[in-house]
Amino acid sequence: MTRETNWQDDATRDLMSLGGRLALLERGHGSHVWDADGRRYLDFLGGIAVNALGHAHPVFVDTVARQAATLSHVSNYFATPQQLELAARLKQLAGAGERGRVFLANSGTEANETAIKLARLHDRDGLIVSLEGAFHGRSTGALALTPKAAYQDPFRPLMPGVAHIAPTLEALEQLFAGGERIAALVVEPIQGEAGVLPLPDGYLRRARELTTEHGALLILDEVQTGMGRTGEWFAFQREGIVPDAMTLAKGIAAGFPLGAVVTFGDASDLFYPGTHNSTFGGNPLASAVANAVIQEIQDRDLLANVALRGRQLREGVASLPLVAGTRGAGLLIGIRLTAPVAADVRAAAHERGLIVNAPTDDAMRIAPAYTIGDAEVAEFLELFAAALDDVAARRADAHTEENPA
Ligand code: PLP
Repeated sequence: MTRETNWQDDATRDLMSLGGRLALLERGHGSHVWDADGRRYLDFLGGIAVNALGHAHPVFVDTVARQAATLSHVSNYFATPQQLELAARLKQLAGAGERGRVFLANSGTEANETAIKLARLHDRDGLIVSLEGAFHGRSTGALALTPKAAYQDPFRPLMPGVAHIAPTLEALEQLFAGGERIAALVVEPIQGEAGVLPLPDGYLRRARELTTEHGALLILDEVQTGMGRTGEWFAFQREGIVPDAMTLAKGIAAGFPLGAVVTFGDASDLFYPGTHNSTFGGNPLASAVANAVIQEIQDRDLLANVALRGRQLREGVASLPLVAGTRGAGLLIGIRLTAPVAADVRAAAHERGLIVNAPTDDAMRIAPAYTIGDAEVAEFLELFAAALDDVAARRADAHTEENPA
């Protein structure tokens, strides 16, 4: 594990950030990054589903430079053309129609905090319900919707008025049959942090029916699945439903911090002046980058590439050792392993110069750039197969040692 032990914990002690010690990354180009020792890695995590155009893409670089030289920030007493253009683009891509509205924030967490306030404005006395296995962020409101003991317990008491249900159709039916007042149901179409776990078939359609019937909002957290990651602009579009609100971030500006909430129909009228705002949210720099990223995805038909490369990757890994199957959509791929060795696979991949992620004990997550081509797919499959071979061989050795002939 030379690559991992080279990097000293000591060197990051000034950072309160609790992680980030795998390597000291200095630069990137396309789907590759280089560390301080000049080692090259194939980045198939993409900043956790953020770097939609890869690293240092000319469109990103030019837009940041041009907009920074024009207008970077103004107070939210003013609007800017970039912000208006982005709102119009998001509404159009989401099919939010005339009534749709957009709030621009800085991150997924902040977008979800906005959505929580939207739910409170809709029904202050109803429960906000999220799913077990969900990840909606770590600020106090978003944390209350993220039912993982290790994240929540040190910070109790959490925001009240929240409940969690299992991510099953039965639990959904029970929730609405129970007579409890529900303000909003908040769900991710695919739970990324839970190991790229899709909702059961028909879940979103039934959730739409039940929330409508009971006067609750359906809020989709598309922070990870949105902006083309699954091969559609938004994952809900595959299901033929329309939510009341959707939160976005990650890939929206391909590495420039930006979050958004898009509302549909009546939910668009809930916020009124004085109820919410953000100093940096939707500044012209971030908005210009998002506009340029969206334009590039459209000009290059990158959603088709996301679907194609996703299929190639899923087919390519299916027959590799230790692989039990795949899940997810487009370029948000979960690779199920036959044993709880995800951390070992991640480390072996890192050692060979491949960045992937192990969100659970037995699943790997990859979320590469939308721009990957044959070369990146081939390089990934070679490195990933070698990493799996390493782990399989070590397991076989350990087994032989435990059970000598
Ligand atoms: N929601 C989902 C589904 C996410 O995957 C994440 C981040 O991983 C968040 C919210 C939080 O977003 P951010 O880290 O931009 O605040």
